[in-house]
Amino acid sequence: MSLLEVDSLTKKFGGLVAVDDFSMDVERGEIVGLIGPNGSGKSTVFNCIMGIYNVTDGTVRFGGDEITDDATHEVVNKGLSRVSQESNPIDSMSVAGNIKLFTLPDSIVSLRGGATEEEIYEYAARIDIEDDLHEMPDELPHADVRRLEIAKALATEPEMMLLDEPFAGMNQAEISELAAQIDRFREEGMTMVVVDHNMGGLMNLVDRVVVLNNGVKLASGEPEEIAENQEVQEAYLAGEGI
Ligand code: ADP
Ligand code: MG
Repeated sequence: MSLLEVDSLTKKFGGLVAVDDFSMDVERGEIVGLIGPNGSGKSTVFNCIMGIYNVTDGTVRFGGDEITDDATHEVVNKGLSRVSQESNPIDSMSVAGNIKLFTLPDSIVSLRGGATEEEIYEYAARIDIEDDLHEMPDELPHADVRRLEIAKALATEPEMMLLDEPFAGMNQAEISELAAQIDRFREEGMTMVVVDHNMGGLMNLVDRVVVLNNGVKLASGEPEEIAENQEVQEAYLAGEGI
């Protein structure tokens, strides 16, 4: 049984079909890349999985349990966490406070009892921002704000993470560093789906790539196959990606 099973997912916004009959399975321990030009439906897939959007049609299963349209905190408590495309730290709280918020019992995402200082340090250390714990988010460089978002997801103790555009706005050195950190999560046993609107960034990182175009799955396969796929290249040339 796959850890995550997305089956025939369709999401419409009025007359716009943002995701059309999309299916994707992710095995335990895998890193899957979900790529496609801007507007192809990648974030919508994540939002449907996480219960942010109700699906129009289709089902989502996690660990064999159907989670379609479950509330976000229920999905998170089952062990699935998402790092959204937009960073949204609370600027009046320290980095440590922002991480702790994700572990409090009244948090929208967690029913746990609130992490200790040692636990918060560990979450931060897993993504190398333990030296920033007492900083305020608006004092951090962009790449560290993105890492804080990942630390917040780690604080929910996920078995699987969905990373939406983790490399966006980063320079090449920052991309390489983050890719190495994500690879470390894999070694720790984390299952992941990584979204990118570019074709290049995550190709060395992932086991398998799924390509979305205009809400439809265009292709899936090993990174090398996808890189050489004519149809995928044409979709990128026609779209806003690259
Ligand atoms: P991607 O993440 O691949 O760039 P999105 O999933 O954000 O694409 O968007 C896919 C399509 O769905 C786009 O046409 C976008 O405008 C539309 N869309 C996404 N969210 C909403 C929403 N909340 N309301 C209306 N349209 C939306
Ligand atoms: Mg997106």
